[in-house]
Amino acid sequence: MVVNAAEAVWRHVGERTWVLRLDGYGVNAGLILGDDLAAVVDTGAGPSNAATLYAAVREVTDLPLVVINTHAHGDHFFGNAYFRARGVEDIWAHGVAADEIAAHGEDQRPLVKAIDPAMASGSGEWTEIAAPNRRVQEHPVDLHLGGHTVTLFHLGRGHTAGDLLVGSGNVLFAGDLVEEGAHPSFEDSYPYEWQRVLGKIIAIDELYTCIVPGHGEPVDPDFVRTQFHKLRQAIKTCSTAIHEYSVDYTKAIPVLPYGPIQSRHLILRMKATGPSRAHSIPR
Ligand SMILES: [Zn+2]
Repeated sequence: MVVNAAEAVWRHVGERTWVLRLDGYGVNAGLILGDDLAAVVDTGAGPSNAATLYAAVREVTDLPLVVINTHAHGDHFFGNAYFRARGVEDIWAHGVAADEIAAHGEDQRPLVKAIDPAMASGSGEWTEIAAPNRRVQEHPVDLHLGGHTVTLFHLGRGHTAGDLLVGSGNVLFAGDLVEEGAHPSFEDSYPYEWQRVLGKIIAIDELYTCIVPGHGEPVDPDFVRTQFHKLRQAIKTCSTAIHEYSVDYTKAIPVLPYGPIQSRHLILRMKATGPSRAHSIPR
C-alpha cells in the first residue's frame, strides 16, 4: 500500500474546514477542526485511499476523530475500517445509509476493483465493511467539536435514499447530491425528490456559500441552481418521453443533458420511483 501524504494537499475552503481530493474516484474528503475533536467527511474507496487520508489528517492535527459518511456508496465509506482500526469510535451517517452499508456494503466490492484490489476481494487488512454506528434521522444533529459546531442533516431522498449533508460554517458538504466535472449518477436515485433537495440547497444559499460536491471542484450556489434547472428540464423531457413513447422511451436519451448511461438510469429510476407510482393501483 502506498501512503503518499506528501502529495495529498488540503485545500482550505472555509472556517476550520479543508478538502482533500483522493486518488482513484477523486472523492472529496473533508476535515473540520474543533478545539477538542476533528471530523473527517468520507473515507474513500478502501484502505489505500484511507491511509493517504489518515496520514494527511495527522499532518494537520492529533485530535481524536469522528467520521461522517455522506452516503452509502463504497467510494465514500470503504475506508471506514481503516479509521476504526486507528481508534475512531463514532462513524455518522443517515440511518438509511447505515442500514444499507451494514446489509449490502459487501455487494459493492467489485466496483472498486481498479482502485483498490484488496478492498474489492475483501482480503488484507482493514478491508472489512465498517458500518456507521451513529445515525441521523429526520432531525438535524449538531456535532460539537469544541469552539466549532458541525450540523448533519437530511433534506430528503436524492442521489440515494440516505444522503447526509454536512454544514461547517459557510461550507456545505453535499456528497454526490452535487457533482462537478462529471454527470450526476442516477443508479440508486430518486430523481423527482432529488430536484426538490437541490431546490432546498439553493434556498439556504445565504447560509452556505461554498458547496463541496462528492467529486470535483467546490462550487457556489449558482452552480447548484444550474444543476437544479438541468435536472428539472431533464425530468420534464423524460416524463414526456415516458408518456409518448411508452414502449421505447429510450428515444429520449439523445436529447437529455447527460451521458447515455446516466440518461438511461435517470429514465429507469423515474419509472421505478415516480410520483405516479405511489398512487397507482397494484396489479
Ligand atoms: Zn454516490
